[in-house]
Amino acid sequence: FTARPADPSSDPALEVLRSVFGYSAFRGQQADIIAHVIRGGDALVLMPTGGGKSLCYQVPALVRDGVTVVVSPLIALMRDQVTALRELGVRAAFLNSSLDAAEARDVERAMVRGEIDLVYVAPERLVTPRFLDLLDRTTLALFALDEAHCVSQWGHDFRPEYLQLSILHERHPTVPRIALTATADAQTRAEIKDKLGLTEARVFLSSFDRPNITYRVVPKKSERQQMLAFLREHHPEDAGIIYCMSRAKVEDTAAWLNQQGREALPYHAGLPPEVREANQDLFIKGEGIVMVATVAFGMGIDKPNVRFVCHLDPPKSLEAYYQETGRAGRDGLPADAWMSYGMADVVSLRQMLEQSEAGDSHRRVERSKLEALLGFCETSACRRKVLLNYFGETLEAPCGNCDTCLEPVETWDGTIAAQKALSAVYRTGQRYGAGHLIDVLLGNATEKVAQQAHDALKTFGCGKELSKAEWQSVYRQLVAAGYLTVDLEGYGGFRLTDAGIPVIKGQQPVKLRKDPVVEKRRGVHDAL
Ligand code: ADP
Ligand code: ZN
Repeated sequence: FTARPADPSSDPALEVLRSVFGYSAFRGQQADIIAHVIRGGDALVLMPTGGGKSLCYQVPALVRDGVTVVVSPLIALMRDQVTALRELGVRAAFLNSSLDAAEARDVERAMVRGEIDLVYVAPERLVTPRFLDLLDRTTLALFALDEAHCVSQWGHDFRPEYLQLSILHERHPTVPRIALTATADAQTRAEIKDKLGLTEARVFLSSFDRPNITYRVVPKKSERQQMLAFLREHHPEDAGIIYCMSRAKVEDTAAWLNQQGREALPYHAGLPPEVREANQDLFIKGEGIVMVATVAFGMGIDKPNVRFVCHLDPPKSLEAYYQETGRAGRDGLPADAWMSYGMADVVSLRQMLEQSEAGDSHRRVERSKLEALLGFCETSACRRKVLLNYFGETLEAPCGNCDTCLEPVETWDGTIAAQKALSAVYRTGQRYGAGHLIDVLLGNATEKVAQQAHDALKTFGCGKELSKAEWQSVYRQLVAAGYLTVDLEGYGGFRLTDAGIPVIKGQQPVKLRKDPVVEKRRGVHDAL
């Protein structure tokens, strides 16, 4: 492989990369993205954490005439980025609630005069009449919308102000836009395009693989002890993050870890802002501190040497899991993602979902996101394969760097079960979710079964050898393996994929995981 030596003088982007940032070459898709944006195109950039998203707008900001407005949801992140840019001699500033009126006015004046190349702004400020008026008087180079997944109402990072950002394009239709995120499944991508008015934008999708992260999921026995044993063995002195579902559990776990001789700090939205900030600072600057946190912690935390991320409770979706574990190993060195998972978690996540105020279609999406996560937990296949499959990527061979690859799990021959499960999907017209299909398999004469005359199907009652809980696990594993997809544009029913065809024909053996959780807690599961 010989690269043609590029002549920086003929490529202003490369010239900026070298002279301002001191790097010799673009990485991955950076060069394409940057060229597209410099030409005035809109872009949606999906790149994993640490992939180098910032340069995708910082370089165009310095090549194009005018001011680049960067929308960023986190004040701490803005400050860090601006400080780093100024050290490189870039004319950058931020506008947020941490500035007083006089400081803000100075920044505004510099924008209008064109004495600034990049200005970072919080979304809530951006949509104020004052700021919109300021933009009208400023020569604009580019709009960069960072953490674009904040527009998704299903994620826990949802920021309502992001929904208003399409106003930028309405008022300044000729200014290009670049939206960036490190986490977006198909659903979130569609939402970003739709809500931010980026339907015409070119999508730049980088591989989501984080090869340096080892994924592990263990069935819960005594979660704290299991985690402590894991930390003692693999990370006796490293910094890491432990995610818990509730604030109370965050505090208990942090206190308990300290008793065990591990320096741990709590972080959740119920703590006073000054405590949160102090703890975050200690974590970032300190050595080997464990941050015990709710999901309130993490977005924009730039600590390269986080060596582990543990989930004592599973998150709500694979997207959230990917994002949270993605905070480990940003420096590229080996890191661990460890999660404990038990039936009680599944029950409470399901209950939360069913009791939420959300409408049916919303709940359907949430349910399919949760099922995907459970499928990941229960898989006997390579976890990285399942994770990447969820983001639409295919990993050819097992990764060799996850628990199922390193210590293969006990499986059973699920070829016939898979065949039955898939044919139930097929014979009912590829429109139904697991609940109804399992009724068909078990031969339950429900009202829906009667209405659709599904009791006349060959598959009706052909699956009595397994329990409802086991069939649920079978369906999740089939989704996780990519034999079924969930049709989110329709009613959230299952559809066969191309890979599912040989399975339904019995030409493809399927191994399913023996799930200790399901086996032990069958009673709980059936009660759902
Ligand atoms: P992201 O925002 O995607 O998580 P960053 O923009 O913070 O990633 O970049 C991650 C790291 O990679 C940073 O330290 C950055 O300076 C570095 N980096 C990005 N692009 C390049 C490049 N082309 N050459 C060398 N280092 C790069
Ligand atoms: Zn693997």
